[in-house]
Amino acid sequence: MKLLEKKGFIIDIDGVIARGQTPIPNAIEAVEKLREMGKRIIFVSNNSTRSRKIMMERFKNYGLKVSEDELLIATYATARLISREKRNAKVYTTGENGLKEELRLAGIRIVDYKNAEYLVVGSNRGINFEIMTKALRLALNKNVRYIAVNPDKIFPAEDGPIPGTGMIIGALYWMSGREPDVIVGKPSKVIMEDALKILKLNAEDVVVIGDQIDVDVLAGKRINATTVLVLSGVTTKENLNEKIKELGIKPDYVLKDLSEILRY
Ligand SMILES: [Mg+2]
Repeated sequence: MKLLEKKGFIIDIDGVIARGQTPIPNAIEAVEKLREMGKRIIFVSNNSTRSRKIMMERFKNYGLKVSEDELLIATYATARLISREKRNAKVYTTGENGLKEELRLAGIRIVDYKNAEYLVVGSNRGINFEIMTKALRLALNKNVRYIAVNPDKIFPAEDGPIPGTGMIIGALYWMSGREPDVIVGKPSKVIMEDALKILKLNAEDVVVIGDQIDVDVLAGKRINATTVLVLSGVTTKENLNEKIKELGIKPDYVLKDLSEILRY
């Protein structure tokens, strides 16, 4: 089965479309070519601090126009999950404004921890003792549903690794022994099944593309989609074989970058 015969493309952003603020050469053109072919595209990112609105601004800087329904950021997917479970749910979140914005847009009420039915853990670059104390008290309460936006341990920033959402998930686990009831971001099926729903396609009709084997490729395998690893981000030609061996997961295709997809 050729890649270009598929109807839909679930594409990771960091390491595929851009590295930080810098677009990856030819990736934007490749997306435009796929669109010209009439392919359905959705960009799926584990980002836990940005809303779709913030992400759309980023894409504008990359030189690619996207609409809100082409973006499934983990913040938005989290809001969608909670609103499916409960109308006007009351949520306490450790997260930043981008996450809060998506929760509110879904009709979710952001409340103080004493009134919360949900604990939503997302990254926060201003995390402090007070936020952690509130999150801890909620984690200790079994009646509170605990959702993590993504399972990312560390994030590869341009100048080196920085803490991911794992900084909070890990601390809560160490303190309370509790892990999230649901993790939304890749490699979780939650965000992937939501992507299929938005695309209105079955897994056999889509290709999942990303730069991390244990995140994107694993997520694609969990829904039984065709998987493509690109070597324009975290995984490189140098560490590819080592990573495949270490993780025991093999992508269906390994391509230099997104533009190579046009040759398959
Ligand atoms: Mg990535």
